[in-house]
Amino acid sequence: MGQIILMDEPLSNKIAAGEVVERPASVVKELVENAIDAEATSIEVRLEEAGLKSIRVTDNGKGMDGGDAVLSFSRHATSKIGNEHDLFRIRTLGFRGEALASIAAVSKVELTTSDGESPGIRVQVEGSRVTGQEGAPSRKGTDISVSQLFYNTPARLKYLKTLQTEIGHSIDYMNRMALSHPDISFRLLHNNQEHLRTSGSGSLLKVISDIYGAGTARKMLRFEASSADYEVSGYGTVPDITRASKNYITVLVNGRWVKSFMVNKAIIDAYHTYLPIGRYPIAVISIKGDPYLTDVNVHPAKQQIRLSKESELCALIRDAVRQAVAGALGAPAAKPPK
Ligand code: ADP
Ligand code: MG
Repeated sequence: MGQIILMDEPLSNKIAAGEVVERPASVVKELVENAIDAEATSIEVRLEEAGLKSIRVTDNGKGMDGGDAVLSFSRHATSKIGNEHDLFRIRTLGFRGEALASIAAVSKVELTTSDGESPGIRVQVEGSRVTGQEGAPSRKGTDISVSQLFYNTPARLKYLKTLQTEIGHSIDYMNRMALSHPDISFRLLHNNQEHLRTSGSGSLLKVISDIYGAGTARKMLRFEASSADYEVSGYGTVPDITRASKNYITVLVNGRWVKSFMVNKAIIDAYHTYLPIGRYPIAVISIKGDPYLTDVNVHPAKQQIRLSKESELCALIRDAVRQAVAGALGAPAAKPPK
């Protein structure tokens, strides 16, 4: 007698949530990415108790109609890719169609949305089950509230760090989103206190100023370079402005904040001999290339990336940053170490 069963959707969603929803900041990340994909120009995030009590994200993006609003909570439901071909040419931040399903599996969610044409809708979901839906005003955009995160997964709740650490993760994430999208106005409030506000003016330097201060922004060096495959541009601090951690380097690939050891190393190498040991620059680097050259389907959180022709790209970055730094010091751009 066979012993295998197919899990029901709430159970499989809960398991998937383990990878996608690690902490409140993961929810912030997924919801903000959805707002960006919906072409919002203004995104507001409000957290209560580091997001454990509630996380509310309001955007003025394209919204959803009633059918999509309910469907969006099903696993593998996405409007972003339709076939295998699309998977290798991803231009949106999301594509896996599992964030809302995962979040709703481990919290209580209320989604209010409208595409501005059809009547608006409000949907309540609790632990993967739709518990209510009703009409709502048809204001174009989406407002999503996630409360009592991990209420049904006590082990995950226990694993969380202090509220201070958790809010730190959300602030860090919002800062990186603002740096990756200077054309969007972001606002982050925690317990009604504002932690970030950007204007959406389109100027990266202005966002750097909003986050790291006007004094730092004034001391930023601009760099730019391109090869047959990639275009890179961004800012790095002059060598007298440093930090004790590599965490102030933001790497963006086609508008997505990623963690790339190799790109980080290329930037740090570019500052070699200009900075004391153990000190690092503040830098933001934007890398643009054909999505075909980048693979973000490495991990559900999509922060790791595989880059084709990575060593050529890193050499391009190292030389461009080195030149900017050496130029600012009036020294010839000596070749940095390989
Ligand atoms: P993915 O982003 O990978 O497609 P999600 O589970 O995050 O998967 O979202 C499912 C779908 O719900 C999206 O593809 C999109 O069509 C819709 N959606 C989610 N959030 C928003 C939003 N803020 N505005 C408009 N549509 C949204
Ligand atoms: Mg998504």
